[in-house]
Order: sequence, then C-alpha cells, then structure tokens
Amino acid sequence: MSNRLNIAKFGGTSVANFEAICNCVKVIKGNSDTRVVVVSAAGGVTNLLVELAHHAMTHVEIQKRIDAIKDIEFKILGHLAHAEDVKEKLGVLLSELDTLAFHEEIHHTDSLKDQLLSLGERMSSLLVAAILNEQGQKARNFDVRNVLKTDSVHGAATPNLALIKTQASRLLKPELADAIIVTQGFIGSDENGMTTTLGRGGSDFSAALLAEALDADSCEIWTDVIGVYTTDPRITDQARPIPELSFEEAAEMATFGAKVLHPATMEPALRQNIRVFVGSSREPEKGGTWLVKDCKEEPPFRAITRRKEQVMVTVKTPKMMYAQGFLERVFAIIAKHKLSVDLVTTSEISVAFTLDNPANSVAQRLNKQTISELETMCDVTVEDGFDLVTIVGNHMQSAKGCTGKVFAALNDIEVRMVCFGANPHNMSFLVKEAVSTQVVKGLHSVLFE
Ligand code: ADP
Ligand code: ASP
Ligand code: MG
Repeated sequence: MSNRLNIAKFGGTSVANFEAICNCVKVIKGNSDTRVVVVSAAGGVTNLLVELAHHAMTHVEIQKRIDAIKDIEFKILGHLAHAEDVKEKLGVLLSELDTLAFHEEIHHTDSLKDQLLSLGERMSSLLVAAILNEQGQKARNFDVRNVLKTDSVHGAATPNLALIKTQASRLLKPELADAIIVTQGFIGSDENGMTTTLGRGGSDFSAALLAEALDADSCEIWTDVIGVYTTDPRITDQARPIPELSFEEAAEMATFGAKVLHPATMEPALRQNIRVFVGSSREPEKGGTWLVKDCKEEPPFRAITRRKEQVMVTVKTPKMMYAQGFLERVFAIIAKHKLSVDLVTTSEISVAFTLDNPANSVAQRLNKQTISELETMCDVTVEDGFDLVTIVGNHMQSAKGCTGKVFAALNDIEVRMVCFGANPHNMSFLVKEAVSTQVVKGLHSVLFE
C-alpha cells in the first residue's frame, strides 16, 4: 500500500449509471494512492429530491418523482451479480424516501428537507462500494455524517473544521488500512446528529474537507469535462482546458459561475496546500487541470464565467444625499434575509446591487418581505432576467490596455452594470440574459482565440 493519500471525488454524471461507474472503478484502480472515494448522488437525483423537498405537489406528482429516483437506482443495482445484501440496504433508504417525500412537515422543517436530500448520496455511495467489490477492489461504504460535522444551518451548513479533523482521525483513518472507503459528498451532521447539507454542488467541498482532515497529498475531482476550461464548454466549442490554475483564480471562477467546482473547494486546499486535480472520469487519459498554490504563469486573462438568473435591485432616496448609515441599513435588511450581494454600484442618491437568485437552489431567494422592508426606507426597483459575465485573471487593475480590448468586444451590447477594481482577479458585467451567450463568445474570441 502506498504511503501517499489521494481523495477521489466523482460527480453526478460520473455515477449516473453502471457504465459511468465502471469508468470510475478504472480511475480508482489506476491510482494506488486513492484510499477515499467521495461520491455525489447519481445525476438527476438531487434535482428530483430538491423538488420533493421544496415544492408543494399532488400525490401523483410526488409519486412520479419517487419512481424516477427508484428507476435510476434500480437500473444500477440490476448490474450487480450478488445484489441481495445491497438490495436490502437500498430498500431501507428507499422506504425512508417514501416516508419523507409524503411527510406532512417536509416543506416546513429544514432538518427534514436535508434528511431527504441526503438520500441521493447515501444511495450512490452504497452502490459504488458494491460495484468496486464486485470488480475486485475491496471497498467499504462509510457514513460521512459521523465525520463531517457542521453547524445547524440546514441547506448551507458551515463545517466545523476542528471537529472534522478529530472525527476523521478517530473514525476514518483506521478504516483506510484494509479497504477503499466510499463515502458521501454534500452531506454532514450537526452536534445533535441531525443531517445537514453544504449547498448545491457541495461534494467538491466535502472532498477537499476530507483531504484536509486526513492530511492527504492530493484531491482529484472527477467530472464530465477534461479540466477547468477558459469558459463553460457548453457555451462555446472554442473553450479549451487550462493545464494549471492558482487556487485564487479557481475560487474566483467558481464563485462567479464555473459550476465545475464548488466555490468553497479551494479553501481547505489552500490552507493545507493540497494539490487539486480536475479531470474527466470518462476520458482520464486526456489529462486535466491542476490547481496549485503558486502558478507558473499569471496571465491577465484566464477565463470567462457566467452566472445566470441574477436580479438587480436599485434603491433610491433623496435622503441619501450627505446621509450616513443608509447603506448599512439597506445591507442589514439583505443580510437578515440571508441574501448574498455580488455587484454594488453607488451614486449620489441611489445604490444598485445584484443578487444571485437561481430557481433550483436551496439558498434563500429574494422575496416580497425583503422588498417591503426595503420600501420602508426608500424607493425600490427590482429587475430580473440578467446574467453576470465575469472575466477572471490576474493583475487586471495594473495591466495596461486590458479594459480597451474588453470594452471594444462589448461595443454592441447593452451593459447594465460594470464592476472592476475591487480585486485584481475580476471584471464583471451585468447583461440581459438574451445576450449573455453572445457576450461570452465575443469576449472569448477577443481574449483567447
Ligand atoms: P459534477 O456533477 O461532476 O460535479 P458539474 O455539472 O457540477 O459536475 O460541473 C461540470 C460542468 O461544469 C461541466 O459539464 C461544464 O458544463 C460546467 N462548467 C462551467 N464552467 C466551466 C469551466 N470553466 N470549465 C469546465 N466546466 C465548466
Ligand atoms: N448532489 C449534490 C447536488 O447535486 C451535490 C453535488 O453533486 O456536489 O448539488
Ligand atoms: Mg458539481
């Protein structure tokens, strides 16, 4: 057995069906340092669970979603030769799904929602461990909730790093001696043992947290693309993989919409200086992107990201002239409603800011209550239908000629808001969603092609 330790995380597409899981098995067997495998829910399952947890539905609609989930899991199970034991365990999880999906408190109790959301990862880890065993690699399914301890903010829990470290040394480390441990991303538990979740896409973060707690040498994020690209390859076929990125650049990209990594993934990696690799579980031979602390190159333009479904709020009051404390009161209301502000611009009597407001998120969305609280202080305008396009790079504030090139590419576009200068890594533009693809393609062509 190798002395080095690698954590390998496989995303939803990588564990979506039996064939995809077989590719993961090859990847796992291909690196003798891999002792811990972190898996997401099979592709599509978390979306279905989010619908069950968050939307009121008829009995028939609920049953339709349960059946869709069962179908995904049973199709994978069907490929196992010795399925009895696994089938029984899967059955227990599926009956928990039935109970929670029809639970009358499900839409009102956040802890129940998280318990329901946790089922996707609990089922996929069970199946992946079983398939590894059948394919000659001794593996054990491990309930990460005993190790990944968090606060009690359901849907967006914050990890308790000290406790995770203690629990990992006590419970997880001894398990690594004789088998590969297959565990769940995305989920954890609070001090009362209640299930929590880290937010959508959180499995990447889980893998990095476990890597940190176990003093791992590396962490691999296996997904459906061969690394982090200059922009989302779904937007333009001109996007190309970036061989090496700094943690800072990657964090900036993730925060501003590069879905390939959860934004918090780089925090544990940076703290412990753990190298992170991003590659495709379907085509591991094609290589991927290494995320490192210090990058050899620091180009002014590295990538372009897009975040959809942004809302712009403008608050205006003549009283703001020469007034103090207005911004503080506006942001106190926003903070009270747990909304996170991205871009801000201010003028003499008004402030405009953008909020992330995606429909399928478990995070808080802008609501009537927030708006009416703001209206007690000022005039409020809410506009939606925007996308945020961000150029990520280095030393942008000081690189001469940067802005000219960028604005020339945006010449024909109505740009609603611009943010530049808060940090050297990004330049952001708020544009109408109808033109954001054109904007990304145009900028990509000028900056990278
Ligand atoms: P997983 O289920 O493996 O976690 P995700 O769907 O969360 O995978 O992330 C992978 C997807 O991220 C890709 O399919 C791609 O469309 C999208 N993506 C967005 N921006 C980028 C980028 N800059 N580089 C690579 N992929 C990106
Ligand atoms: N299954 C969770 C989601 O879809 C977590 C993840 O895949 O990273 O958001
Ligand atoms: Mg993901």
